Amino acid sequence: MRYISTRGNAPELTFEEAMLTGLARDGGLYVPAEIPTMSRDEIAALAGLPYEEVAYRVMRPFLGDSFSDDEFRGAVERAYAGFGHGARAPMVQLGPNHHLLELFHGPTLAFKDFAMQLIGQLFQIALSRRGEKVTIVGATSGDTGSAAIEAFRGLDAVDVFILYPHGRVSEVQRRQMTTPVEDNVHALALHGTFDDCQAKLKDMFNDFEFRDEVRLAGVNSINWARVLAQVVYYFSAATSLGAPEREISFTVPTGNFGDIFAGYIAKQMGLPVKRLVVATNKNDILHRALSTGDYTTGEVYSTITPSMDIQVSSNFERALFYAYGQDGAAVAQLMAELKDGGFHISQGALEALQDHFSSGRSDEHETSATITEALKSMGELLCPHSAVGVKVAEEQLGDEVMVTLATAHPAKFPDAVEAATGQRPPLPPRMADLYERSERVTEVENDLNTLETLIRDRRT
Ligand SMILES: *Cc1c(COP(=O)(O)O)cnc(C)c1O
Repeated sequence: MRYISTRGNAPELTFEEAMLTGLARDGGLYVPAEIPTMSRDEIAALAGLPYEEVAYRVMRPFLGDSFSDDEFRGAVERAYAGFGHGARAPMVQLGPNHHLLELFHGPTLAFKDFAMQLIGQLFQIALSRRGEKVTIVGATSGDTGSAAIEAFRGLDAVDVFILYPHGRVSEVQRRQMTTPVEDNVHALALHGTFDDCQAKLKDMFNDFEFRDEVRLAGVNSINWARVLAQVVYYFSAATSLGAPEREISFTVPTGNFGDIFAGYIAKQMGLPVKRLVVATNKNDILHRALSTGDYTTGEVYSTITPSMDIQVSSNFERALFYAYGQDGAAVAQLMAELKDGGFHISQGALEALQDHFSSGRSDEHETSATITEALKSMGELLCPHSAVGVKVAEEQLGDEVMVTLATAHPAKFPDAVEAATGQRPPLPPRMADLYERSERVTEVENDLNTLETLIRDRRT
Protein backbone atom coordinates (compact mmCIF):
# COMPACT_ATOMS: atom_id res chain seq x y z
CA MET A 1 0.00 0.00 0.00
CA ARG A 2 1.54 3.29 -1.17
CA TYR A 3 0.58 6.83 -0.21
CA ILE A 4 0.71 9.79 -2.59
CA SER A 5 0.50 13.54 -2.06
CA THR A 6 -2.57 15.56 -3.04
CA ARG A 7 -0.19 17.98 -4.81
CA GLY A 8 1.47 15.25 -6.83
CA ASN A 9 5.02 16.30 -6.15
CA ALA A 10 6.33 14.42 -3.11
CA PRO A 11 7.86 10.97 -2.66
CA GLU A 12 5.45 8.04 -2.33
CA LEU A 13 5.48 6.62 1.19
CA THR A 14 4.38 3.55 3.12
CA PHE A 15 1.64 3.83 5.75
CA GLU A 16 4.22 4.06 8.53
CA GLU A 17 6.21 6.75 6.74
CA ALA A 18 3.10 8.78 5.95
CA MET A 19 2.01 8.51 9.59
CA LEU A 20 5.39 9.64 10.95
CA THR A 21 5.66 12.46 8.39
CA GLY A 22 2.24 14.10 8.49
CA LEU A 23 2.41 16.84 5.85
CA ALA A 24 4.01 15.94 2.50
CA ARG A 25 7.12 17.86 1.44
CA ASP A 26 5.27 19.54 -1.44
CA GLY A 27 2.83 20.98 1.12
CA GLY A 28 0.18 18.40 0.21
CA LEU A 29 -1.60 15.73 2.21
CA TYR A 30 -1.07 12.00 1.90
CA VAL A 31 -3.83 9.77 0.53
CA PRO A 32 -3.72 6.09 -0.43
CA ALA A 33 -2.76 5.55 -4.08
CA GLU A 34 -5.80 3.26 -4.21
CA ILE A 35 -8.64 2.96 -1.73
CA PRO A 36 -9.22 -0.66 -0.67
CA THR A 37 -12.83 -1.85 -0.86
CA MET A 38 -14.94 -4.23 1.21
CA SER A 39 -17.59 -6.51 -0.30
CA ARG A 40 -21.23 -6.38 0.81
CA ASP A 41 -20.73 -9.65 2.70
CA GLU A 42 -17.65 -8.37 4.47
CA ILE A 43 -19.54 -5.23 5.47
CA ALA A 44 -22.61 -7.19 6.63
CA ALA A 45 -20.36 -9.39 8.78
CA LEU A 46 -19.29 -6.35 10.85
CA ALA A 47 -22.71 -5.94 12.47
CA GLY A 48 -22.60 -6.65 16.18
CA LEU A 49 -18.85 -7.26 16.39
CA PRO A 50 -16.85 -5.61 19.20
CA TYR A 51 -15.62 -2.14 18.17
CA GLU A 52 -11.99 -3.32 18.23
CA GLU A 53 -12.73 -6.11 15.76
CA VAL A 54 -14.50 -3.72 13.39
CA ALA A 55 -11.51 -1.39 13.70
CA TYR A 56 -9.10 -4.16 12.84
CA ARG A 57 -11.03 -5.34 9.77
CA VAL A 58 -11.69 -1.87 8.36
CA MET A 59 -8.17 -0.47 8.81
CA ARG A 60 -5.95 -3.52 8.20
CA PRO A 61 -5.90 -3.27 4.35
CA PHE A 62 -4.57 0.31 4.54
CA LEU A 63 -1.49 -0.62 6.55
CA GLY A 64 0.34 -2.84 4.06
CA ASP A 65 3.29 -4.42 5.83
CA SER A 66 4.03 -1.44 8.09
CA PHE A 67 2.73 -3.41 11.10
CA SER A 68 2.23 -7.11 11.66
CA ASP A 69 -1.29 -8.40 12.33
CA ASP A 70 -0.41 -8.99 15.98
CA GLU A 71 1.20 -5.59 16.45
CA PHE A 72 -1.82 -3.88 14.96
CA ARG A 73 -4.33 -5.93 16.99
CA GLY A 74 -2.42 -5.06 20.17
CA ALA A 75 -2.35 -1.36 19.29
CA VAL A 76 -6.10 -1.30 18.66
CA GLU A 77 -6.85 -3.11 21.95
CA ARG A 78 -4.68 -0.74 23.98
CA ALA A 79 -5.97 2.37 22.19
CA TYR A 80 -9.59 1.86 23.24
CA ALA A 81 -9.11 0.09 26.59
CA GLY A 82 -9.26 3.40 28.48
CA PHE A 83 -12.62 4.49 27.07
CA GLY A 84 -15.45 5.00 29.52
CA HIS A 85 -17.99 2.93 27.54
CA GLY A 86 -17.82 -0.73 26.51
CA ALA A 87 -19.30 -0.02 23.09
CA ARG A 88 -16.66 2.73 22.53
CA ALA A 89 -19.02 4.55 20.11
CA PRO A 90 -22.57 3.90 21.39
CA MET A 91 -25.68 5.35 19.75
CA VAL A 92 -28.87 6.81 21.16
CA GLN A 93 -32.04 7.41 19.18
CA LEU A 94 -33.26 11.00 18.91
CA GLY A 95 -36.31 10.41 16.70
CA PRO A 96 -37.87 7.89 14.30
CA ASN A 97 -35.09 8.27 11.71
CA HIS A 98 -32.45 10.11 13.66
CA HIS A 99 -29.64 8.66 15.78
CA LEU A 100 -26.83 10.27 17.75
CA LEU A 101 -23.41 8.61 17.63
CA GLU A 102 -21.65 9.37 20.93
CA LEU A 103 -17.97 9.80 20.18
CA PHE A 104 -17.07 11.39 23.51
CA HIS A 105 -16.28 8.48 25.83
CA GLY A 106 -12.49 8.67 25.39
CA PRO A 107 -9.99 10.13 27.88
CA THR A 108 -10.45 13.78 26.77
CA LEU A 109 -14.19 13.56 26.08
CA ALA A 110 -14.10 14.33 22.33
CA PHE A 111 -14.04 12.23 19.17
CA LYS A 112 -10.38 13.03 18.53
CA ASP A 113 -9.44 10.40 21.11
CA PHE A 114 -10.48 7.69 18.64
CA ALA A 115 -7.65 8.60 16.30
CA MET A 116 -5.13 10.01 18.72
CA GLN A 117 -5.12 7.08 21.13
CA LEU A 118 -4.43 4.73 18.23
CA ILE A 119 -1.74 6.97 16.73
CA GLY A 120 0.03 7.10 20.12
CA GLN A 121 0.23 3.30 20.14
CA LEU A 122 1.39 3.10 16.52
CA PHE A 123 4.06 5.81 16.97
CA GLN A 124 5.40 3.97 19.99
CA ILE A 125 5.71 0.69 18.11
CA ALA A 126 7.26 2.28 15.00
CA LEU A 127 9.73 4.57 16.80
CA SER A 128 10.99 2.02 19.29
CA ARG A 129 11.55 -0.41 16.43
CA ARG A 130 13.56 2.28 14.62
CA GLY A 131 15.34 3.50 17.77
CA GLU A 132 14.31 7.07 16.91
CA LYS A 133 12.90 10.13 18.63
CA VAL A 134 10.55 12.74 17.14
CA THR A 135 9.12 16.15 18.00
CA ILE A 136 5.39 16.30 17.56
CA VAL A 137 4.01 19.79 17.04
CA GLY A 138 0.27 20.21 16.80
CA ALA A 139 -2.05 23.18 16.31
CA THR A 140 -5.37 22.97 18.07
CA SER A 141 -8.61 24.83 18.39
CA GLY A 142 -8.98 22.90 21.64
CA ASP A 143 -9.69 19.21 21.32
CA THR A 144 -6.80 17.99 19.17
CA GLY A 145 -4.25 19.31 21.63
CA SER A 146 -5.65 17.64 24.68
CA ALA A 147 -6.19 14.41 22.76
CA ALA A 148 -2.57 14.47 21.50
CA ILE A 149 -1.16 15.22 24.94
CA GLU A 150 -3.23 12.43 26.46
CA ALA A 151 -2.00 10.00 23.79
CA PHE A 152 1.72 10.89 23.96
CA ARG A 153 2.34 11.96 27.57
CA GLY A 154 5.23 10.05 29.09
CA LEU A 155 6.38 8.34 25.86
CA ASP A 156 10.16 8.73 25.81
CA ALA A 157 10.48 8.64 22.01
CA VAL A 158 8.33 11.76 21.64
CA ASP A 159 8.23 15.42 22.68
CA VAL A 160 4.82 16.93 22.17
CA PHE A 161 4.30 20.70 21.66
CA ILE A 162 0.77 21.97 21.30
CA LEU A 163 -0.06 25.43 19.97
CA TYR A 164 -3.46 26.76 20.90
CA PRO A 165 -4.97 30.23 20.40
CA HIS A 166 -4.56 32.13 23.67
CA GLY A 167 -7.91 32.83 25.32
CA ARG A 168 -9.91 31.04 22.63
CA VAL A 169 -10.32 27.57 24.07
CA SER A 170 -12.68 26.48 26.84
CA GLU A 171 -11.39 26.14 30.39
CA VAL A 172 -11.76 22.36 30.35
CA GLN A 173 -9.86 22.17 27.05
CA ARG A 174 -7.11 24.42 28.39
CA ARG A 175 -6.75 22.53 31.64
CA GLN A 176 -6.55 19.21 29.83
CA MET A 177 -3.53 20.62 27.96
CA THR A 178 -1.81 22.50 30.80
CA THR A 179 -2.16 20.10 33.75
CA PRO A 180 -0.24 16.98 32.61
CA VAL A 181 2.98 16.80 34.61
CA GLU A 182 5.18 14.82 32.22
CA ASP A 183 8.36 16.60 30.99
CA ASN A 184 7.72 15.71 27.35
CA VAL A 185 4.47 17.71 27.27
CA HIS A 186 4.62 21.43 26.31
CA ALA A 187 1.49 23.59 26.03
CA LEU A 188 2.04 26.85 24.07
CA ALA A 189 -0.58 29.63 24.09
CA LEU A 190 -0.13 31.60 20.86
CA HIS A 191 -1.26 35.21 20.54
CA GLY A 192 -3.54 34.71 17.54
CA THR A 193 -6.38 32.60 16.17
CA PHE A 194 -6.52 28.89 15.42
CA ASP A 195 -5.80 29.66 11.77
CA ASP A 196 -2.63 31.47 12.91
CA CYS A 197 -1.61 28.37 14.88
CA GLN A 198 -2.28 26.19 11.87
CA ALA A 199 -0.35 28.56 9.56
CA LYS A 200 2.67 28.54 11.89
CA LEU A 201 2.58 24.77 11.98
CA LYS A 202 2.62 24.65 8.18
CA ASP A 203 5.51 27.15 8.12
CA MET A 204 7.52 24.93 10.46
CA PHE A 205 6.91 21.93 8.22
CA ASN A 206 7.99 23.97 5.21
CA ASP A 207 11.22 25.02 6.95
CA PHE A 208 13.07 21.86 5.96
CA GLU A 209 16.18 22.67 7.97
CA PHE A 210 14.17 23.00 11.17
CA ARG A 211 11.96 20.08 10.22
CA ASP A 212 14.91 17.73 9.82
CA GLU A 213 16.84 19.06 12.82
CA VAL A 214 14.09 18.38 15.37
CA ARG A 215 12.58 15.43 13.45
CA LEU A 216 9.25 17.18 13.21
CA ALA A 217 6.16 14.98 13.09
CA GLY A 218 2.56 16.08 12.79
CA VAL A 219 -0.52 14.56 14.34
CA ASN A 220 -3.00 17.19 13.24
CA SER A 221 -6.06 16.00 11.42
CA ILE A 222 -4.06 16.15 8.19
CA ASN A 223 -2.26 13.00 9.36
CA TRP A 224 -3.59 10.16 7.25
CA ALA A 225 -3.54 7.72 10.17
CA ARG A 226 -6.01 9.94 12.01
CA VAL A 227 -8.43 10.06 9.13
CA LEU A 228 -8.22 6.30 8.83
CA ALA A 229 -9.02 5.69 12.52
CA GLN A 230 -12.18 7.77 12.09
CA VAL A 231 -13.43 5.66 9.19
CA VAL A 232 -14.17 2.84 11.63
CA TYR A 233 -17.15 4.33 13.45
CA TYR A 234 -18.97 5.05 10.19
CA PHE A 235 -18.89 1.29 9.61
CA SER A 236 -19.83 0.33 13.17
CA ALA A 237 -22.75 2.80 13.25
CA ALA A 238 -24.08 2.07 9.76
CA THR A 239 -23.94 -1.74 10.10
CA SER A 240 -25.70 -1.63 13.45
CA LEU A 241 -28.53 0.33 11.75
CA GLY A 242 -28.97 -2.09 8.86
CA ALA A 243 -26.26 -1.31 6.32
CA PRO A 244 -25.43 -2.60 3.77
CA GLU A 245 -29.16 -3.38 3.22
CA ARG A 246 -30.08 0.18 4.14
CA GLU A 247 -28.42 3.41 3.03
CA ILE A 248 -27.39 5.65 5.91
CA SER A 249 -26.67 9.40 5.94
CA PHE A 250 -24.38 11.16 8.38
CA THR A 251 -24.33 14.73 9.64
CA VAL A 252 -20.97 15.86 10.97
CA PRO A 253 -20.14 19.04 12.94
CA THR A 254 -17.23 20.17 10.81
CA GLY A 255 -14.13 22.33 11.20
CA ASN A 256 -11.03 20.96 9.56
CA PHE A 257 -13.00 18.47 7.44
CA GLY A 258 -11.14 15.45 8.87
CA ASP A 259 -14.04 13.69 10.51
CA ILE A 260 -16.41 14.02 7.57
CA PHE A 261 -13.69 13.12 5.09
CA ALA A 262 -13.37 9.80 6.95
CA GLY A 263 -17.03 9.26 6.03
CA TYR A 264 -16.16 9.85 2.38
CA ILE A 265 -13.44 7.18 2.62
CA ALA A 266 -15.95 4.76 4.21
CA LYS A 267 -18.22 5.40 1.24
CA GLN A 268 -15.41 4.83 -1.26
CA MET A 269 -14.63 1.54 0.51
CA GLY A 270 -18.16 0.39 -0.27
CA LEU A 271 -20.27 1.44 2.72
CA PRO A 272 -23.68 2.55 1.39
CA VAL A 273 -23.64 6.15 2.59
CA LYS A 274 -26.34 8.29 1.02
CA ARG A 275 -25.31 11.78 2.04
CA LEU A 276 -22.56 13.31 4.12
CA VAL A 277 -23.89 16.53 5.59
CA VAL A 278 -21.35 19.17 6.59
CA ALA A 279 -22.65 21.16 9.57
CA THR A 280 -20.87 24.46 10.18
CA ASN A 281 -21.26 27.27 12.68
CA LYS A 282 -21.19 30.95 11.74
CA ASN A 283 -17.72 30.32 10.23
CA ASP A 284 -19.44 28.83 7.21
CA ILE A 285 -16.82 28.84 4.47
CA LEU A 286 -17.46 25.14 3.77
CA HIS A 287 -21.20 25.65 3.53
CA ARG A 288 -20.62 28.49 1.05
CA ALA A 289 -18.04 26.50 -0.89
CA LEU A 290 -20.27 23.44 -1.22
CA SER A 291 -23.30 25.52 -2.22
CA THR A 292 -21.66 28.01 -4.61
CA GLY A 293 -18.09 26.87 -5.30
CA ASP A 294 -16.69 30.03 -3.72
CA TYR A 295 -13.92 29.27 -1.22
CA THR A 296 -12.93 32.72 0.01
CA THR A 297 -11.48 33.09 3.48
CA GLY A 298 -12.66 35.84 5.77
CA GLU A 299 -12.51 36.80 9.41
CA VAL A 300 -12.65 34.02 12.02
CA TYR A 301 -15.48 34.56 14.51
CA SER A 302 -15.23 33.20 18.06
CA THR A 303 -18.31 31.11 18.85
CA ILE A 304 -19.63 28.75 21.51
CA THR A 305 -18.30 25.97 19.24
CA PRO A 306 -14.58 26.83 19.29
CA SER A 307 -13.47 23.55 17.72
CA MET A 308 -15.22 24.67 14.54
CA ASP A 309 -13.94 28.28 14.48
CA ILE A 310 -11.94 27.78 11.34
CA GLN A 311 -11.71 29.42 7.94
CA VAL A 312 -9.14 27.22 6.26
CA SER A 313 -10.19 23.56 6.45
CA SER A 314 -7.02 21.57 5.86
CA ASN A 315 -8.60 18.26 4.96
CA PHE A 316 -10.87 19.84 2.36
CA GLU A 317 -7.79 19.59 0.14
CA ARG A 318 -8.23 15.81 0.12
CA ALA A 319 -11.84 16.13 -1.04
CA LEU A 320 -10.72 18.56 -3.75
CA PHE A 321 -8.07 16.08 -4.88
CA TYR A 322 -10.74 13.48 -5.61
CA ALA A 323 -13.21 16.03 -7.01
CA TYR A 324 -10.51 17.12 -9.49
CA GLY A 325 -9.94 13.53 -10.62
CA GLN A 326 -6.73 13.11 -8.56
CA ASP A 327 -5.02 15.94 -10.44
CA GLY A 328 -2.24 17.06 -8.07
CA ALA A 329 -1.23 20.01 -10.22
CA ALA A 330 -4.79 21.39 -10.16
CA VAL A 331 -4.87 21.09 -6.36
CA ALA A 332 -1.47 22.77 -6.04
CA GLN A 333 -2.81 25.65 -8.16
CA LEU A 334 -5.90 26.08 -5.94
CA MET A 335 -3.76 26.05 -2.81
CA ALA A 336 -1.50 28.73 -4.29
CA GLU A 337 -4.59 30.88 -4.91
CA LEU A 338 -5.72 30.23 -1.34
CA LYS A 339 -2.58 32.00 -0.09
CA ASP A 340 -3.98 35.12 -1.76
CA GLY A 341 -7.40 34.77 -0.15
CA GLY A 342 -9.38 32.09 -1.95
CA PHE A 343 -10.32 30.18 -5.08
CA HIS A 344 -13.32 29.14 -7.09
CA ILE A 345 -14.12 25.43 -7.46
CA SER A 346 -14.68 24.50 -11.11
CA GLN A 347 -18.21 23.47 -12.10
CA GLY A 348 -17.24 19.84 -12.72
CA ALA A 349 -15.45 19.50 -9.40
CA LEU A 350 -18.31 21.20 -7.56
CA GLU A 351 -20.78 18.71 -9.00
CA ALA A 352 -18.47 15.85 -7.99
CA LEU A 353 -18.42 17.21 -4.42
CA GLN A 354 -22.18 17.70 -4.37
CA ASP A 355 -22.67 14.04 -5.33
CA HIS A 356 -21.51 13.13 -1.84
CA PHE A 357 -21.71 16.19 0.40
CA SER A 358 -24.49 18.57 1.36
CA SER A 359 -24.23 21.27 3.99
CA GLY A 360 -25.95 23.59 6.42
CA ARG A 361 -25.07 26.12 9.10
CA SER A 362 -26.22 26.97 12.58
CA ASP A 363 -25.71 30.39 14.11
CA GLU A 364 -25.14 31.00 17.82
CA HIS A 365 -28.79 31.50 18.64
CA GLU A 366 -29.89 28.39 16.74
CA THR A 367 -27.22 26.27 18.40
CA SER A 368 -28.30 27.40 21.86
CA ALA A 369 -31.94 26.84 21.04
CA THR A 370 -31.13 23.32 19.84
CA ILE A 371 -29.39 22.51 23.14
CA THR A 372 -32.45 23.75 25.03
CA GLU A 373 -34.89 21.88 22.82
CA ALA A 374 -32.93 18.58 22.77
CA LEU A 375 -33.04 18.41 26.54
CA LYS A 376 -36.71 19.29 26.67
CA SER A 377 -38.01 17.00 23.95
CA MET A 378 -35.45 14.17 23.80
CA GLY A 379 -33.91 14.22 27.29
CA GLU A 380 -30.49 14.60 25.67
CA LEU A 381 -27.84 17.00 26.95
CA LEU A 382 -25.83 18.05 23.87
CA CYS A 383 -22.48 19.80 23.67
CA PRO A 384 -22.69 22.88 21.42
CA HIS A 385 -20.79 21.22 18.55
CA SER A 386 -23.11 18.23 18.56
CA ALA A 387 -26.03 20.69 18.68
CA VAL A 388 -24.84 22.31 15.45
CA GLY A 389 -24.99 18.84 13.93
CA VAL A 390 -28.44 18.04 15.31
CA LYS A 391 -29.84 21.36 14.10
CA VAL A 392 -28.53 20.92 10.55
CA ALA A 393 -29.53 17.23 10.48
CA GLU A 394 -33.11 18.06 11.46
CA GLU A 395 -33.38 20.46 8.53
CA GLN A 396 -32.18 17.73 6.18
CA LEU A 397 -34.10 14.73 7.54
CA GLY A 398 -35.63 12.75 4.68
CA ASP A 399 -36.73 9.14 4.38
CA GLU A 400 -33.34 7.66 5.05
CA VAL A 401 -31.78 6.97 8.42
CA MET A 402 -29.68 9.88 9.65
CA VAL A 403 -26.81 9.57 12.13
CA THR A 404 -25.50 12.76 13.70
CA LEU A 405 -22.03 12.61 15.19
CA ALA A 406 -21.85 13.87 18.79
CA THR A 407 -18.29 15.13 18.77
CA ALA A 408 -17.78 16.15 22.41
CA HIS A 409 -19.19 15.56 25.87
CA PRO A 410 -21.39 18.39 27.19
CA ALA A 411 -19.13 18.77 30.25
CA LYS A 412 -16.35 19.95 27.97
CA PHE A 413 -18.36 23.12 27.22
CA PRO A 414 -20.26 23.62 30.49
CA ASP A 415 -20.87 27.39 30.15
CA ALA A 416 -22.72 27.16 26.85
CA VAL A 417 -24.71 24.15 28.04
CA GLU A 418 -25.64 25.82 31.31
CA ALA A 419 -26.67 29.02 29.53
CA ALA A 420 -29.01 27.04 27.29
CA THR A 421 -30.47 24.61 29.82
CA GLY A 422 -29.84 25.89 33.35
CA GLN A 423 -27.99 22.63 34.02
CA ARG A 424 -24.25 22.48 34.54
CA PRO A 425 -23.07 19.13 33.14
CA PRO A 426 -20.66 17.43 35.57
CA LEU A 427 -17.35 15.94 34.43
CA PRO A 428 -17.26 12.15 34.57
CA PRO A 429 -15.87 10.98 37.95
CA ARG A 430 -12.52 9.90 36.44
CA MET A 431 -11.63 13.58 35.75
CA ALA A 432 -13.48 15.32 38.56
CA ASP A 433 -10.27 16.89 40.02
CA LEU A 434 -9.32 18.70 36.77
CA TYR A 435 -10.10 22.12 38.24
CA GLU A 436 -7.76 21.57 41.19
CA ARG A 437 -4.63 20.52 39.28
CA SER A 438 -1.95 23.20 38.70
CA GLU A 439 -1.33 24.51 35.17
CA ARG A 440 1.88 24.83 33.13
CA VAL A 441 1.83 26.88 29.91
CA THR A 442 4.06 29.26 27.90
CA GLU A 443 2.62 32.25 26.06
CA VAL A 444 4.23 32.91 22.65
CA GLU A 445 4.04 35.62 20.00
CA ASN A 446 2.71 34.76 16.55
CA ASP A 447 6.22 34.59 15.09
CA LEU A 448 7.99 31.68 13.42
CA ASN A 449 11.52 32.35 14.71
CA THR A 450 10.41 32.71 18.30
CA LEU A 451 8.52 29.46 18.09
CA GLU A 452 11.29 27.46 16.47
CA THR A 453 13.81 28.69 19.04
CA LEU A 454 11.51 27.76 21.88
CA ILE A 455 10.96 24.28 20.50
CA ARG A 456 14.69 23.69 19.95
CA ASP A 457 15.42 24.73 23.54
CA ARG A 458 12.66 22.82 25.24
CA ARG A 459 13.13 19.42 23.66
CA THR A 460 13.95 16.79 26.28
C1 LIG B 1 -12.33 18.81 16.08
C2 LIG B 1 -13.74 18.95 16.42
C3 LIG B 1 -14.70 19.19 15.43
C4 LIG B 1 -14.33 19.37 13.98
O1 LIG B 1 -13.84 18.19 13.42
P1 LIG B 1 -13.00 18.25 12.05
O2 LIG B 1 -12.49 16.88 11.84
O3 LIG B 1 -11.91 19.24 12.28
O4 LIG B 1 -13.94 18.70 10.99
C5 LIG B 1 -16.03 19.25 15.82
N1 LIG B 1 -16.40 19.13 17.10
C6 LIG B 1 -15.50 18.92 18.08
C7 LIG B 1 -15.97 18.81 19.48
C8 LIG B 1 -14.15 18.82 17.78
O5 LIG B 1 -13.26 18.60 18.74
